[in-house]
Amino acid sequence: MKITDLIASDKPTVSFEIFPPKRPEPSLFGEAEAEAAMARTKEVVRKIAAAKPAFVSVTYGAAGGTTGANTAAIAEFVQACGVPALAHLTCITSSRERIADELKSFREKGIENILCLRGDRPQGIRDQGGFKHAADLVRTCRDCSLIPDPSSLCLGGACYPECHPECAHLADDIAHLKEKVDAGLDFLTTQMFFDNNVYFHYLARLRSAGVTVPVLAGIMPVTNGKQIARICKLSGTSLPPRFRAIVDRFGEDPVAMLDAGVAYATEQIIDLFANGVNNVHVYTMNRPEIAIRIMLNLHGIVS
Ligand code: FAD
Repeated sequence: MKITDLIASDKPTVSFEIFPPKRPEPSLFGEAEAEAAMARTKEVVRKIAAAKPAFVSVTYGAAGGTTGANTAAIAEFVQACGVPALAHLTCITSSRERIADELKSFREKGIENILCLRGDRPQGIRDQGGFKHAADLVRTCRDCSLIPDPSSLCLGGACYPECHPECAHLADDIAHLKEKVDAGLDFLTTQMFFDNNVYFHYLARLRSAGVTVPVLAGIMPVTNGKQIARICKLSGTSLPPRFRAIVDRFGEDPVAMLDAGVAYATEQIIDLFANGVNNVHVYTMNRPEIAIRIMLNLHGIVS
């Protein structure tokens, strides 16, 4: 089912994200190791799917070879568990031929939702196929010469309420985003944010810039106090004082931080729903217990 159909009503939806195993180098790991990693991820998928999210997104390695094939395989497994899948696809290190192969593979596996991304350029790897920006990938996905009926794909893209770290001004980032959406996107998902006002202000700016597609709010339940400062610095995400106090107080205690991180994320989600945002995407980081606890907390709201 297309994401745009899933989110068409006023009903609140919650979706989750998982990452597939990296495909191990054959010289370092045997086939058995790769199969064991896939089996562990499938177990995670089973548990996350049982929490009944609207859909599950499956990430993709920027250096295509690492998780590309596994993204398609895990997305197919998500759908076999009865939940629509959104397969991520990055282009920065890909050729046009490789993208065509990925699209064919997604189609063969019945995956119609694709998140079109540029990806972060891995150090030491040069661009291979002339894809400079995600908009180039969107145009390629909509190209009739690559796959039959490309308009039947439901395409999403990423957006950054606090500006993408490589762009100096939010106004320029939004102008680039408009170009990406106009290339053929159906919806957007935001980078994580910890202050809902950041999302509300950003949404207002997108609408006044003529970006009219649905914008799913990306929420990260923080369960690791040490990691979050580094992730936020890299992604340009700000930490509001109330959230910083939680990390300072509980960051060293994984059990307490899980409680506090899930509670903070739940409160953010309820505030978004209460203020008219219907679609929230939760970065569950392959942690079924997070997905389950969030869905339990929202039991009377999302059903
Ligand atoms: P783009 O939309 O191409 O934007 C990248 C930068 O280029 C921005 O600064 C933008 O302003 C600028 N830009 C765009 N167009 C132009 C132009 N015409 N002229 C000048 N500048 C321009 N990474 C992964 O590797 N795998 C994943 O699965 C993955 N999933 C993600 C999911 C979400 C929801 C988000 C928010 C991010 C995800 N990422 C993932 C990270 C993403 O790949 C990085 O943030 C990457 O740096 C940018 O990707 P993009 O698709 O947003 O790029």
